[in-house]
Amino acid sequence: MTHRLTLAACLLLLATEPGGSQTLDEPLTLVSSEGRRLLPTVAFDGRRMVDLRQLTGPFGLTVPENQQPGRLTLLRGEQVIVLTANQGLVSVAGTLVSLPSPPVQRSGFWYVPIDFIGRVLALVHDQSVELRRRSGLVVIGDIRVPQVVARYQRIGPQSRLRLMITPAADHVIEQETGRLVITFAADALDLVLPDLAPATLLRGLRDVATRPALAVDLGNAFGAYTSRSEPAIGGGVELVIDLQPTPATSTRVVPPPAPRVPTPADAAPDPDLPTLSDLAPPRTIRAIAIDPGHGGDDTGTRGPNGTLEKEVTLAVARRLRNLIESQLGLRVVLTRTTDTTVALDERAAIANNNRADLFISLHTNASVRESATGAEVFYLSLAEYDAEAREASGFTGQPVPVVGGGSRVLDIVPWELAQLRHVDQSARWALTVADELSLRIPMSPRGRPPAPVRVL
Ligand SMILES: [Zn+2]
Repeated sequence: MTHRLTLAACLLLLATEPGGSQTLDEPLTLVSSEGRRLLPTVAFDGRRMVDLRQLTGPFGLTVPENQQPGRLTLLRGEQVIVLTANQGLVSVAGTLVSLPSPPVQRSGFWYVPIDFIGRVLALVHDQSVELRRRSGLVVIGDIRVPQVVARYQRIGPQSRLRLMITPAADHVIEQETGRLVITFAADALDLVLPDLAPATLLRGLRDVATRPALAVDLGNAFGAYTSRSEPAIGGGVELVIDLQPTPATSTRVVPPPAPRVPTPADAAPDPDLPTLSDLAPPRTIRAIAIDPGHGGDDTGTRGPNGTLEKEVTLAVARRLRNLIESQLGLRVVLTRTTDTTVALDERAAIANNNRADLFISLHTNASVRESATGAEVFYLSLAEYDAEAREASGFTGQPVPVVGGGSRVLDIVPWELAQLRHVDQSARWALTVADELSLRIPMSPRGRPPAPVRVL
């Protein structure tokens, strides 16, 4: 029996701005074997919602007449879905399913959070339905939609574009006037592109509307490129494209250095590893609380050679503190600095009393399954905090799925509902962290479920 330790981090943004009122939001794109279509969304108080009338056609839903006030019954064949206004639980073919925020009824029309698609419609649809939040795709049926996470780095006069493709997909790179086009053997692409300022080598990255391809718009300093791809752990492949400037441009811009013999002391930091300053958070973040999981009598999990989770989390937290303080100049507070027992409430209090803007809880999960591997990022979900829902179900602990299968029960703490307005930002932070992690270490194939936990 082999245990594997994996790293999980729990993020919670503590102090940020609440959202505004109802506005148009970015549309989602439905992708199926029949093609693509846009699905408009609106933002209600910062939450991304969709008008139910937009979903009835694509998902074959019917709306019976004679609806009860404050309720909406929908039919998908024989299966019944019942929504209640301002209630985060939906009855789906007799089972209760939670939504991250309740449906909203406005002027007689119903709006549901976009997660309704992945959590509710997926249960009653005759084909698989998957919501990919970051790229705004809804993937319907058995079609190939690899995720392509792009990252861009400057390395001296050169630039490197790294594409993490999961699952691996064949691709062809073609050079056209002013651009490279990378076309994938896929039905559609789940593209996650970085924010880039146009530069002389690379002007930008864009989706090619007409086919599953990524366009790399080149600047006038561009001279040539080389590419290579390597299998990545976890079934993906990484495509690395190096862009080189034309020699003339490079001499004009960068005078050639005086020749000299390199010495070991010249060894620069590995250009493949972006520095932490690449990840600099917005200026609104001044203090970060890092929570080394467990401690004292609570040892956490145990690795195959007796490594204890409480020791690993503390060691990682200390290193993280040093890196963040020295490279980002932010204040870091640890919820424990020694091998001591600290109650969950106390950990939260330490973060709040120190006015932390961001809370990161470090854990190393273990699984008896050898196949279980990869890092995971959890973020707070308040779906289960709905008071009625909690009363109705009477639970005090919420089983959270664990890497490799099974589940464990975690304490649910009915907590300040004020946190609700931070959930979206927590989710975005978690996705950012997961993106960054995914370029360095294998991630759990389970994805990133929001976890209804206070401190993991
Ligand atoms: Zn733990």
